[in-house]
Amino acid sequence: MTDRFLNIFASKTAAPRQTLPAPGIFFRYFILILSGALPYPITAQLPCMAGLLAERNAIRFPELAQERQLLRKQMAQSGIPYTSAPRTVVTIPVVVHVVFKTEQENISDEQILSQIAVLNQDFRKLNANANTVPPPFAPFAADVEFEFCLARRDPSGQPTYGITRRQTDWSNIGDLTAPDGRPRIHYAELGGTDAWEPERYLNIWIGSIGGGALGSASFPGTAPPEEDGVIVDPRYFGAIGLATFPHHLGRTATHEIGHYFNLNHIWGGDSNSCDDDDEVSDTPVQRSAYLGCPAFPQMSCGNSAMFMNFMDYTDDACMSLFTLGQKTRMWAALTTARPGLISNTVCTSTAVQETSENTAFYLYPNPAQHELWFQLVGHCSAPVQINIYDVSGKIWATQKTLDNTASIRVDISAMPNGFYLATLTNGTIYAVRPFVRSF
Ligand SMILES: [Zn+2]
Repeated sequence: MTDRFLNIFASKTAAPRQTLPAPGIFFRYFILILSGALPYPITAQLPCMAGLLAERNAIRFPELAQERQLLRKQMAQSGIPYTSAPRTVVTIPVVVHVVFKTEQENISDEQILSQIAVLNQDFRKLNANANTVPPPFAPFAADVEFEFCLARRDPSGQPTYGITRRQTDWSNIGDLTAPDGRPRIHYAELGGTDAWEPERYLNIWIGSIGGGALGSASFPGTAPPEEDGVIVDPRYFGAIGLATFPHHLGRTATHEIGHYFNLNHIWGGDSNSCDDDDEVSDTPVQRSAYLGCPAFPQMSCGNSAMFMNFMDYTDDACMSLFTLGQKTRMWAALTTARPGLISNTVCTSTAVQETSENTAFYLYPNPAQHELWFQLVGHCSAPVQINIYDVSGKIWATQKTLDNTASIRVDISAMPNGFYLATLTNGTIYAVRPFVRSF
């Protein structure tokens, strides 16, 4: 089994900025054309920059290499294999920093919430396409038992929605290029936004990357704290608004957070080889990335390739699983390298927050098909009542929740298509939101 990170850290030169896709990607591109699958458009840059970032950081911070090796050993030792048996679900606090130049890049709260919803499906095996995992792989599909919440307290303990916004003068602020090697997006003084304590928050920066890359992430122990986290281009974050086909279903963040929890690409390194793999035993060895939406099965290195894994490069609609082995690796990374994210209280606000009608709650997705999620903002000190009315005033759904509930799911699958109003009240707050139910 080849050690991909040893390879990365042994690299003597950084890849040039305008990196062309690895030979394997061109190879796959032609195979896909032959097989009729939709290929990812050839761009001047790799879709995911996590590997490139690790290479750059190995050169920028040689002192991290030793720490990383130690961490790797610890993570390997704590890698308890997971079965399908349920465990305690851990909730990861998230802060999203939107750094925009154009107003279009200043994506809506709803688009951000739609991403949180996708993460809470993909990492819980609740994704709508979980039933499309091919039968040979289905026994390995994992409920990772990670959930994600937007932080409700900032590092100083103040109430927050877990979203920061800043307008910048810089185009492609999410690019890795910067003066003195520091990516601008991570530094307020360079036009970006400073991280919130990376030990306690998963920092996700939203910024235009340009050049065809969708996102980037830091593997555990490969970046200084100020740069630890995930970057996603606003066109590939969430499942509504600016989210752009074929990466319009929020899987870029799912994939990048996989890296953040130490998952490699499903094909291992970018070497176009069957000699390296992703260090996960239940993902078949695969030569290189799959793009587009191939038909099952596809053979690679003598195996049926798991191209529908979240850690491949296939289209969002065609990705459907993490494996139990990947779950083992992510839990090892969480407990060993990122333990500050566990038992964190920044998602449960105990501070009393003034809640105006405009900020009492969010709902998503909108339009909605089968279910509607309510994300309460701030502290709701009494049970909350939600009602859903149509325009004639008829009540279609009603739900009461206990206090301190952050997310509420309402089943709307039996409602006809149309325009509705959702109201929320707890005796002191009364707020209304319109939404559309449609297939
Ligand atoms: Zn990646």
